[in-house]
Amino acid sequence: MAAENDAGRIVIAGGGLAGATAAQTLRSEGHTGPVILLGMEKHIPYLRPPLSKEYLLGKAAEDTVPVVPEGWYGENDVDLRLGVSVTGIHPDARSVDLSDGTSLHYGSLLLATGATPRRLTLAGSELSGVSTFRTLDDSRRLRLSLGAGGKNVVMIGSGWIGMELAAAAATYGNKVTLLGLEDIPLAAAIGPDLGRFFRSLHEANGVSFRLPASAREIIGEAGTVTGVVTDSGELLRADVVIIAVGVDPGAQLARGAGLEMDNGILTDASLRTSAPGIFAAGDVANALHPFTGEHHRSEHWSNALNGGKVAAKAMLGQDATHSTIPYFYTDQFDVSMEYSGFPTLAEGAVPVIRGSLERKEFIAFWQRDSRVVAGMSVNWPRKARPGAQKTIKALISARTPVRPERLADGSVGLDQLLPEA
Ligand SMILES: Cc1cc2nc3c(=O)[nH]c(=O)nc-3n(C[C@H](O)[C@H](O)[C@H](O)COP(=O)(O)OP(=O)(O)OC[C@H]3O[C@@H](n4cnc5c(N)ncnc54)[C@H](O)[C@@H]3O)c2cc1C
Repeated sequence: MAAENDAGRIVIAGGGLAGATAAQTLRSEGHTGPVILLGMEKHIPYLRPPLSKEYLLGKAAEDTVPVVPEGWYGENDVDLRLGVSVTGIHPDARSVDLSDGTSLHYGSLLLATGATPRRLTLAGSELSGVSTFRTLDDSRRLRLSLGAGGKNVVMIGSGWIGMELAAAAATYGNKVTLLGLEDIPLAAAIGPDLGRFFRSLHEANGVSFRLPASAREIIGEAGTVTGVVTDSGELLRADVVIIAVGVDPGAQLARGAGLEMDNGILTDASLRTSAPGIFAAGDVANALHPFTGEHHRSEHWSNALNGGKVAAKAMLGQDATHSTIPYFYTDQFDVSMEYSGFPTLAEGAVPVIRGSLERKEFIAFWQRDSRVVAGMSVNWPRKARPGAQKTIKALISARTPVRPERLADGSVGLDQLLPEA
């Protein structure tokens, strides 16, 4: 059993955005007890979005990616242990085993172990030049290999990460071919019309698609990749192959500890798991969302940020719920996109467009039962007031019906769509 003085000790497994934000919030909310943040990687906690965008493209320096500067941890008495992973959890004893052979008692434990890229059981996956993509080290390597341009790059996977990496590789002047299982890239996330918008954007910038297509085999010479054979037998030359076929929640630990699981670690709206004193946040958590009354597992930046804050407050016994409307963004070529809402509610709905897809400046609204459930803005002026994302979130929260003609009509101000107008 944990000793009396372990009751205020908070252990965080996972040194990513959710874990680091939780540590920050614990201190900003006045927790004075011990906080131990355990990170498997050797780097201080960092943000992943720049890894496939501005950092990869050489537009942002490496010192812009940490969640907080290295000095913050010491200054705030957070015991950051890098290169150390949690290898086992004992909920009854309130203790965790660590990869360095030691163990720790906790009063509360936060599981913020993120997600792991899926691999393919494909001949040739182990060749040099073939990789998945998730970490700062992956981005450093790719920046070196793509930066001079002139390479043949094959991207396997047409989701957000595959599309962002394809954009970065093409921007560097590499010849990029993208394979995906869908007929239209991103269609599962944003529907066929907007998926086509992103495909056209990529094609206009020189990216070739093979859809639907999968890789049958990766081939190489002397241990280094030279090509990918598709399921139709086409041979695509390749110097670099990136496998971006989604991620699995890093939930093995929780499963081993007998926590309730379903597509990640199940939590209530305060991010409590089924085991007393254990919380989960970020990519690994499948949290009950008060707005829909359903569980949602989100693999996005804002979910990790807000989840880290909520879990910290909940660990301190505060009445906190993870109830913000999901949000994410992407940058590809000259397109900056932001999305708020519930993709599951938007599924199958035809988006209402305000603005112009041709000019690449628009808002797409998805409705269900005449209510806005999701919205995406593309290159919408950031200084516009009210902002596109603020309007979309307010419309979703209001749950009031809006006529699609008003959503589409640019002469109706965004502020006039809001319920109080
Ligand atoms: C390349 C890339 C680009 C992205 N771009 C965007 C974007 O543009 N917009 C957006 O909204 N989202 C984006 N995301 C998603 C966003 O970055 C993630 O949702 C977010 O990083 C999740 O944070 P997390 O703290 O839950 O997990 P992670 O950031 O994955 O951190 C978890 C950490 O825990 C460590 N860990 C795992 N197991 C253990 C263990 N047993 N013990 C100790 N440590 C452990 C891992 O090594 C990892 O460092 C992107 C993700 C990637 C990979």
